Amino acid sequence: MNRPAAPVSLKQLNTLGVDARAATLVTLERPGDLEALDFDPGRDLVLGEGSNVLLAGDVPGRVILNRLRGRRMVGGGNRSDNPVIVEAAGGEPWHDLVRWSLDQGLCGLENLSLIPGLAGAAPMQNIGAYGVELADCFESLTAWDWRDRRLRDFGLADCRFGYRDSRFKSLEPNRYLIVNIRLRLERQFTPKLEYPGLADELRAAGITRPTARDVSDAVIRVRQRKLPDPAVIGNAGSFFRNPVLARDQAEALRKRFPGLPVYAHGEAGAKLGAAWMIDHCGWKGRREGDAGISEQHALVLVNHGNAGGPDLLHLAMRVRDSVRDTFGVTLENEPRIVQFGPEPT
Ligand code: NAP
Repeated sequence: MNRPAAPVSLKQLNTLGVDARAATLVTLERPGDLEALDFDPGRDLVLGEGSNVLLAGDVPGRVILNRLRGRRMVGGGNRSDNPVIVEAAGGEPWHDLVRWSLDQGLCGLENLSLIPGLAGAAPMQNIGAYGVELADCFESLTAWDWRDRRLRDFGLADCRFGYRDSRFKSLEPNRYLIVNIRLRLERQFTPKLEYPGLADELRAAGITRPTARDVSDAVIRVRQRKLPDPAVIGNAGSFFRNPVLARDQAEALRKRFPGLPVYAHGEAGAKLGAAWMIDHCGWKGRREGDAGISEQHALVLVNHGNAGGPDLLHLAMRVRDSVRDTFGVTLENEPRIVQFGPEPT
């Protein structure tokens, strides 16, 4: 009699360090392997680096690890060509791609340095930092359609990028596996230094005319200083998205809470600083069992050791509720919450 295989721990495969289990693990190394793979969205899960996911329970089926590798210039490889299209497989580590692009003399990704995760996850939530988002240099991507069992190409408009959002995250979650992405990078450097934290960092280093590499280095230093390192304490980066409201609503809130950071967003919108709101409600640095809010950054949910997915989710929901009770604004999660069974109570 064949015994069922023992469940596999996912603790080392998600940066929050949640000890959820899966029935089996499959490592995807070649796009051709997709044709032989089945995917049941009610049982299976695709994982990249596990840096933007909260495993709120076990995975009853398979975890498919995207380990497709490779990066190259597909157009504009001559020194004089501009822009240059770069292609990266979905399993390429994002930060390695950023540094490699700088080594090739290509600009555009420097503000997105040190964002955890893989290239294939970048379009999922249209990663962004320091005033730049993936959509700004996005050309196209190729994804495997689990439903129709074929490769499909998506251009910029097809991806429906929004603020930390995309078609792949909201409109059709679990339908596609991103096989590769293509980015349009520039040989001429145009610094984007609107975020005071970044400009201050360069000024403090005595740099007045930064190169793209200077900007990347500055972003790395700021991130290392401000954000907890998942190798030291489990976390998935920002757990909440900055809420976007109509501008008049945001201004009314700022009158009631004079310190609240409000930034113009689009034509009529305004973005509120979620970290400030969470801090204002007294959550920064708080801990309940092994689940906590980072003392370094109020947007970051942390695992002090052995918090389970439900513990972390429960704390996040309490933070969300207290922000809603204080400001009348409901924070949305940034990471994907993975939950196959009934919701924890
Ligand atoms: P920060 O510079 O302390 O700013 C706090 C918030 O204010 C940020 O979330 C940012 O929104 C917003 N902001 C600041 N200056 C702005 C400007 N000139 N125009 C519009 N919005 C402005 O932020 P931080 O927490 O240290 O993070 C720095 C950057 O890294 C941010 O862009 C942040 O999104 C990014 N980041 C992302 C993650 C993640 O897991 N997704 C984690 C850490 C940091 P935005 O968030 O919309 O930029």
